[in-house]
Amino acid sequence: MSTQQKYDIIIVGAGAAGLSLATRIAETSELRNRRVLILDKEQKLGNDRTWCFWEHGEGRFDEIITQSWNNIYFHSKYISRRLGLEPYYAYKMLRSSDFYDHTLASIESSGNVDFVIDSVVGVNAQEGIVICSNGSYQADIVFSSKLPEDLDFSSHIYTDQHFGGWFIEFDEDVFDNEAATFMDFRIEQNDEHRFCYVLPINRKKALVEAAIFSKNHQTKDGYDDIIKGYIEDYISKSRYSIHEKEYGVIPMTNYPFWKHNEGKIYHIGTAGGAVKPSSGYAFKRIQQHTERIIDCLKSNTSIENSYKIFRGRHLLYDSVMLHVLEEQKISGDKVFSDLFEKINVDVLLRFLDGDTNFIGDIQIMKAPRMWPFIKGMAKVISPLK
Ligand SMILES: Cc1cc2nc3c(=O)[nH]c(=O)nc-3n(C[C@H](O)[C@H](O)[C@H](O)COP(=O)(O)OP(=O)(O)OC[C@H]3O[C@@H](n4cnc5c(N)ncnc54)[C@H](O)[C@@H]3O)c2cc1C
Repeated sequence: MSTQQKYDIIIVGAGAAGLSLATRIAETSELRNRRVLILDKEQKLGNDRTWCFWEHGEGRFDEIITQSWNNIYFHSKYISRRLGLEPYYAYKMLRSSDFYDHTLASIESSGNVDFVIDSVVGVNAQEGIVICSNGSYQADIVFSSKLPEDLDFSSHIYTDQHFGGWFIEFDEDVFDNEAATFMDFRIEQNDEHRFCYVLPINRKKALVEAAIFSKNHQTKDGYDDIIKGYIEDYISKSRYSIHEKEYGVIPMTNYPFWKHNEGKIYHIGTAGGAVKPSSGYAFKRIQQHTERIIDCLKSNTSIENSYKIFRGRHLLYDSVMLHVLEEQKISGDKVFSDLFEKINVDVLLRFLDGDTNFIGDIQIMKAPRMWPFIKGMAKVISPLK
């Protein structure tokens, strides 16, 4: 006899993907009668990451964003540009602590979502059974943001985006708070793809991060040294205090995570392939995927349909870009400088969103030095299924 508690939907992981999905289910009138369980191994305490994303017009999270900018800087040893994003985009910053508070409050008020802190230790995909340290649960559909155990990246391109960041405050005005620094490649590259970015909250305060595309993770001191040097060399030598630090790793790969969906279990977030392989951005793609899942739930069609947004020709372009950076080791400094020099920023952001039309794609493909991209295209086509 079964002893599992039964739900319509179980969501494993109360992070960006799990909470986005739970909130959308709770808000959707057609789905309000579904009983939902969210499981997470831990209670979120404070801000564990800061999300940036660009968006056209008003967005779902505008009431809780910390800051938004209508301009961005790009710097490298080749070019320096200050680019206006209007009228198409704004670049936005959202602290995870604000996102967790906001989504958890909305879920709590909905009444149809239970939240249990427990660690998932196994699943029976065919039966929809989720086994936790302190109990087990069953549902018709399980969405999981826990990475599958049997990931094998060996026949795909893989690297990490790893980074550290400091929230700092100067005693005097030093930042242009109308513009975020999107990428600054002027730092020592050490045969990797290294850049800093600056997200000003006002003229004195900003989040300054050092990001590296490579498999060689730094110690916290390693990222701290890069950030400290960057602040002194490119921001100001004046006195500042550090309020918070954050560190993280994001996988950048063309691995088809959705192949691990089976039976009643569907992966979401990073575990579902939502991280854009060539940039590491995921937050907006998580929102887009969430919308597709909601459409499937409402229309009672297969959840598999929702993964179409991660596939197709943009996955091919991402794979080519990863091949150029990771396998051919063409410097990111050069590749991104070419793109920012020759392409209209609107088209470039659309491309990074996987939202360009054929003409935009051609413009992008023609912008950087061509040969590595042609070589990359030839190499990646065969393993992509
Ligand atoms: C520091 C950092 C900064 C980032 N910044 C950006 C950014 O600026 N822009 C952007 O687009 N993307 C960014 N990303 C990438 C991406 O948006 C985030 O990683 C995002 O949080 C991914 O969402 P997720 O739900 O897949 O994973 P998470 O948000 O990590 O959520 C997964 C959840 O699953 C839970 N869990 C894991 N294992 C178990 C288990 N066994 N049992 C129960 N629960 C479990 C975890 O506790 C966690 O709460 C960043 C990532 C990091 C790490």
